[in-house]
Amino acid sequence: MDATTTSTTTQVATVKLLIGGQFVESKTTEWRDIVNPATQEVLARVPFATQAEVDAAVASAQEAFKTWKKTAIGARARIFLKLQQLIRENMGELAAILTAEQGKTLPDAEGDVFRGLEVVEHAASIGNLQLGEMANNVASGVDTYTLLQPLGVCAGITPFNFPAMIPLWMFPMAIVTGNTFVLKPSEQDPMVTMRLCELALEAGIPPGVLNVVHGGEAVVNAICDHKDIKAISFVGSTKVGTHVYNRATPTGKRVQCMMGAKNHAIVMPDANKEQTLNALAGASFGAAGQRCMAVSVAVLVGDAQKWVPDLVAKAQTLKIGAGTEKGVDIGPLVSCAAYDRVNGLIERGVADGATLALDGRKPTVPGYEKGNFVGPTVFADVKPGMSIYDQEIFGPVLSLVNADNIDEAIELINANPNGNGTAIFTQSGAAARRFQEDIDIGQVGINVPIPVPVPMFSFTGSRASKLGDLGPYGKQVILFYTQTKTVTSRWFDDSTVSHGVNTTISL
Ligand code: NAD
Repeated sequence: MDATTTSTTTQVATVKLLIGGQFVESKTTEWRDIVNPATQEVLARVPFATQAEVDAAVASAQEAFKTWKKTAIGARARIFLKLQQLIRENMGELAAILTAEQGKTLPDAEGDVFRGLEVVEHAASIGNLQLGEMANNVASGVDTYTLLQPLGVCAGITPFNFPAMIPLWMFPMAIVTGNTFVLKPSEQDPMVTMRLCELALEAGIPPGVLNVVHGGEAVVNAICDHKDIKAISFVGSTKVGTHVYNRATPTGKRVQCMMGAKNHAIVMPDANKEQTLNALAGASFGAAGQRCMAVSVAVLVGDAQKWVPDLVAKAQTLKIGAGTEKGVDIGPLVSCAAYDRVNGLIERGVADGATLALDGRKPTVPGYEKGNFVGPTVFADVKPGMSIYDQEIFGPVLSLVNADNIDEAIELINANPNGNGTAIFTQSGAAARRFQEDIDIGQVGINVPIPVPVPMFSFTGSRASKLGDLGPYGKQVILFYTQTKTVTSRWFDDSTVSHGVNTTISL
């Protein structure tokens, strides 16, 4: 059952590297199986690229940068206009690849692609975004203006849980602003990412502008250390993100790391009960809880604590099964290792004294007996200090914590180190506004359980969920992927030529 073991069959397809505009077979001796988590079928093998292959990808991006940085804004934008069209035309195929290798349901896989598509659309409007500023006559006859110039070779390192959306957060914005890119997708599900890269080349991205290397720790470290990479955008766990940040920033790189989470939702007793229960069940158990913005803790305030049986009943209506089956709500966990970890944490929750109100372990899924399925699991009476509260479970497990009032609930959330997302359910504008003002979390939902912003804003996790400055897409990322150059200029004609040397600092 261990997906990290390498298939010995030679018939299995191999995932290629993308270097200099060519999809090439890796020369590595280290490979990993990509496994369908509903069936354990080996779909393909992914290489762990060699140092020479990483160097070749960076060199090709470095060479391509010389011309790409001077390509007209309109020409860059039109590639992404074409790419959004190609993604729409191939949506069904992209979702099917994603579901096969990652497990989420087909409609949710389309959602994964669609949220990335929105960033591609935003990239196509780059002409409105990468604009400098100008101040006329900052001194007599002197103007100052800014140029937002691309950095050079940038890199992206992505997690398994959104293998379409998160690569699309990265390479379109980096490339459309004039940079070239080296992408390192998740080794667990790189196939949909590679299909998107094929479409990107078909849309007109020139050779060397987008490169892909596969691998794990060694390849990530090679990216962190590479002298020719100027910036890294990382999305993944807190442990790995912290390592990437600490290793790459001393080399002078810009680094932004979007990391792990423990997202709390406050349920006030005046909330619309049906809406709230539906939202909680969808946000906690959807994608089998494998979303960085999943609600993993609900803080029940006062009389809302009486809703536990209704929440359990709602969770029991969800259908568990392979993501390809119609009507399924919850697919399998991505790997056998994830399955063991989530089951282990449920055991720890019981041992720590939480009340297991709904046990989702070992559900029956006819036809998919080998799949990594865990059903919706609800723990009541959870407290800080229990492993199920302190750790990011990344499975379909909802912890319920009781609070007497909104002050206690806000205090609990602000005491948690993570700052990715949060939500409140209430019909009181005053309570909602109080929450919005006092909560110390980067992304806040008011009767919205997963408040991930659309690309005209940016993803804005904070505190332990984020290292580095500026968000990964949207307006903020334009500044991340460009260097602001300030030009101060004076032009002389015969009437303005000054006479004599000025040794003061004035203009
Ligand atoms: P992960 O940290 O295990 O992997 C992320 C990337 O790092 C992958 O490309 C992987 O190959 C690489 N990696 C893994 N181990 C490494 C090591 N020891 N050294 C160097 N590189 C290594 O994360 P994951 O399990 O793929 O994804 C789930 C995590 O990502 C969760 O914690 C989730 O909250 C987080 N996430 C955060 C966001 C966000 O925007 N904040 C979005 C999605 C996922």
